Amino acid sequence: MVTPQPAIENLVVVGSGPAGYTAALYAARANLNPLLITGYQDGGIAGGQLMTTTHVENFPGFPDGILGPDLMDRMKAQAVRWGTRLIEADAEAIDLSQRPYRLQVEGQTINSHSLIIATGASANRLQIAGEDHFWNKGISACAICDGATPQFRNEQLAVLGGGDSACEEAVYLTKYGSQVHLIVRRQELRASRAMADRVLANPQITVHWNRQIAGFSGNGWLEGVQLLNGEGAVAETLAVRGLFYAIGHTPNTRLLRGQLELDGNGYLLTQPGSPATSREGVYAAGDVADPHWRQAITAAASGCQAALAAERWLSEQNLAVTVERQPVDPVAAELPKETANTTETDFDAEALWQGGSYALRKLYHDSSKPLLVVYTSPSCGPCHVFKPQLKRVLNELEGAAQGVEINLETDPEIATQAGVTGTPTVQLFLQKELKQQWRGVQQRSTVKAAIEALLTQAV
Ligand code: FAD
Ligand code: NAP
Repeated sequence: MVTPQPAIENLVVVGSGPAGYTAALYAARANLNPLLITGYQDGGIAGGQLMTTTHVENFPGFPDGILGPDLMDRMKAQAVRWGTRLIEADAEAIDLSQRPYRLQVEGQTINSHSLIIATGASANRLQIAGEDHFWNKGISACAICDGATPQFRNEQLAVLGGGDSACEEAVYLTKYGSQVHLIVRRQELRASRAMADRVLANPQITVHWNRQIAGFSGNGWLEGVQLLNGEGAVAETLAVRGLFYAIGHTPNTRLLRGQLELDGNGYLLTQPGSPATSREGVYAAGDVADPHWRQAITAAASGCQAALAAERWLSEQNLAVTVERQPVDPVAAELPKETANTTETDFDAEALWQGGSYALRKLYHDSSKPLLVVYTSPSCGPCHVFKPQLKRVLNELEGAAQGVEINLETDPEIATQAGVTGTPTVQLFLQKELKQQWRGVQQRSTVKAAIEALLTQAV
């Protein structure tokens, strides 16, 4: 299919959660040649909130459930298969003061007749004293990303919150911790019945009702969480090594403040029964405009509505420039493949990317090139986002540096030796010397610049 970069886009979709990908899928099948800005670090990660969960059990069509990152890989593949163009970056600014509307992305200006805002919502933090100190040293916002790290194995852990996310994370963490404490600020759970029942029936989970967190203690790593009771008096200290937040989300509307009507909590306001915002040609989809339902299926459904509304508006305004689909039926969708662990038989000293401890040992000892060691875990959504970016950097460097992927589940002892506290963690070595370490998703340019600096040094 021909997908030229037009001077003015028909439609730009901002956000790559279920709302964004569904909107793009519908717009692509309407031959509108949509451009989707996936997001990268600003308001969550590419793929959205489901990248930080394990099994999604209530998305129709998957009777046995599907892992959140796998579901998002499929939505992405489906949108791309039908011709959606992607920019894997954040929208840095959106200007709705005149038409065509303008977005700033990776230093370039993109003009578009219409927009679908599907920027979802970001996880909240408590913002109390000690939080920054213990962040990534016991406190985490993502049980699914960090739960498998060695520091939490067979330790007492806690989850704060009473919604579906908190319940799901508490159950997930019982796989790793010796006991999980669920800290709930009221006398009841907000979670759905099915999730609440699972928590209450699990002997490895202790629920602490009417409790708030007052502070933290520890020496370099979290050792205790002080709790207040419903009257605000100090109640007890939980001796936990890990604390996972699941205290709700805030809509990602910072870029639109003052330009579109928002409610008191920052959600985009739409016209009743329609995805139309307060500005012509600008539509909202998903959690960013939904303080009530906030489900993957409702987000996807509203993405569909927004795309159909945009398509109708573009043709009424006589603005749509449609593309011709050649061939009529697109080729099959491509899904990402897992990296298999390299063995002695298939090890390749020149390969750009390999997996497992054998490849690590060989390259660490024998290679003179910069080496990226990437610590991942199977359910880590941010790893899903970051790995292709790292592979892209290595491709761009044309073999001057190499990468090895270590799965924390299968090689925990390597992660312990390396002092890894969560995934993704990336360590950059040159001739056995650790040069740099990153925790969490980073910009591609940051990693590339660090490798290039080593290459210049080595010359
Ligand atoms: P999101 O999924 O939040 O995606 C927003 C997108 O916008 C992201 O890609 C982000 O990168 C992007 N973005 C943000 N800012 C920018 C920017 N400046 N530029 C470009 N892009 C930007 N729902 C269910 O139905 N079933 C479940 O089992 C379930 N489990 C969940 C588990 C957890 C842990 C959480 C947190 C939520 C869960 N939900 C579940 C809720 C569900 O994930 C959300 O309702 C859904 O993801 C909302 O989709 P969305 O597309 O509106 O937004
Ligand atoms: P949520 O439903 O907004 O729940 C947030 C929880 O955190 C509430 O229990 C809230 O307490 C508590 N909380 C908020 N601020 C707090 C604070 N400062 N201190 C202590 N506790 C605090 O958020 P969520 O659980 O992330 O779920 C978001 C949406 O995603 C929901 O629509 C949910 O159904 C959906 N989801 C679905 C699934 C699933 O279907 N399996 C899984 C995860 C999420 P109060 O109850 O007192 O307000």
